[in-house]
Amino acid sequence: MSEPTLFTRIINRDIPADIVYEDDHCIAIKDIAPKAPVHLLVIPKKPIPRLVDAAEEDKALLGHLMLAAGEIARQSGVGDAFRLIANNGADAGQTVFHLHFHILGDKQFSEAQLGF
Ligand code: AMP
Repeated sequence: MSEPTLFTRIINRDIPADIVYEDDHCIAIKDIAPKAPVHLLVIPKKPIPRLVDAAEEDKALLGHLMLAAGEIARQSGVGDAFRLIANNGADAGQTVFHLHFHILGDKQFSEAQLGF
């Protein structure tokens, strides 16, 4: 069996993290190296490595993650101003190969800052 991912270890409480949300299918944690005043990660409990590895059977899970992301953003107090980002693949900056969506908020977003 393959090694559990970093995020699976966080989900299993094997390593600590600041967990701000949890339901049957996902958790949200504070990013350890925040790139905005609010920087959360929405992580499915199922360890899909990258977004492109999601399959037809994951359709409901992906929808759930989008709805959860909206709710988590609302709860975090960022209001309507946030970004939801998934880095897919090492060349796009993905470092943890367990699907996750970044919620970035409370930042003055502008054209110049599009390069997260
Ligand atoms: P990515 O580069 O898109 O794969 O995003 C991985 C994110 O996980 C980065 O923003 C890291 O700062 C964050 N990260 C790595 N280790 C931890 C950890 N132990 N707890 C919380 N966030 C982490």
